[in-house]
Amino acid sequence: MKLSLKMKIKPLRTNKMFMLEKTLIDFKNAVNDWIDISWNDGKITDRKLHSYGYKELREKYPNLYSNSLQDAMNWAIQILRSSIKLNPNKKPIFNTLMVSYKSVDYKYENEGLIIPLCGKRVFIPLYIPKKYKKYLQNGTFGRLVIKKEGNDYYAYLSIKVEEKEPYKPTLWFGVDLGVYNLVVVADSKGREILRFDGEIVKEYKKKLEKYRARIQSRQKRNFNKYTKVGNKISNYSKYINHVISKEIVKKAKQYNAGIVLEKLKGLKKSKLNKSKPKNIRKALHIWSYADLIKKIKYKAKLEGVPVVEISPRNTSKTCSRCGYVNRRLKNERIFVCPKCGLEIDRDLNASINIAKKVASKQA
Ligand SMILES: [Zn+2]
Repeated sequence: MKLSLKMKIKPLRTNKMFMLEKTLIDFKNAVNDWIDISWNDGKITDRKLHSYGYKELREKYPNLYSNSLQDAMNWAIQILRSSIKLNPNKKPIFNTLMVSYKSVDYKYENEGLIIPLCGKRVFIPLYIPKKYKKYLQNGTFGRLVIKKEGNDYYAYLSIKVEEKEPYKPTLWFGVDLGVYNLVVVADSKGREILRFDGEIVKEYKKKLEKYRARIQSRQKRNFNKYTKVGNKISNYSKYINHVISKEIVKKAKQYNAGIVLEKLKGLKKSKLNKSKPKNIRKALHIWSYADLIKKIKYKAKLEGVPVVEISPRNTSKTCSRCGYVNRRLKNERIFVCPKCGLEIDRDLNASINIAKKVASKQA
């Protein structure tokens, strides 16, 4: 599977920094030049663009590596295509400070990258998170993008790693994307394994409020502000999903368990009772659950943890002890079984049922 590793670049000496900075500016200008050329020649958005401008731009940017100059064209084509779809009369502008390299153009060695900059091969040292080391040792390298964000430089390295053969689980974990809790995980024997409640969200909301207040006190209102807050929201919920998915996969591995997830499609109907499209909060919920499921699957794949998806039918309405289906269940927090009398936390009940759906089939 393909991973994208983001690594911060260590502080560079002035001359290296200057070369990198110059390359990023050249690349940005080259993308905009490619856009101009396409625009002036009837909005060409395929590889034919190459013959219209390569010679001219090669001379204009002697310090830019030839593959990077071609990549600037590919970048321009992509930007043009999506921009023309949105508004065919507005010429897009590329504002990102970045440069991209193909796998043959750079080398990874001694915890850094050797990349062509201004006609030289330059060593760029990286901060490498511990968990990335094994991927860097065994993976197949793909595209490298170096990007400036704020005052820092980052390397985005695309890398292909072998997936682990999934093990034979002796136990199943049901993951319930709860109505009251964010996520509850229980095993097929009825034990609660993990619970992520509103606390983790509250914490994140507090941070977000602070951030919002800071922005609002700053200057006058503008549109940028909203997009920035929007990004922050998605980043935080992605972060929460990262924490939750990591924990679930770790626990599953510890217990030699497989993970059972509900297929998301049904979730909308059964769990988000008669969800109105107006309700943004619920829409956000669906969205962030989709991201959580993606993250669980992805991390499980890397660790060799088997994952099964099941239909969410009746998982919340069924009694996890006797199997009675309580069709009258409404929004109660506690599931009460009219047949056997079981009283159990509703989300826990559902997660046990989810685990059982697979465990009973394999028993
Ligand atoms: Zn029962």
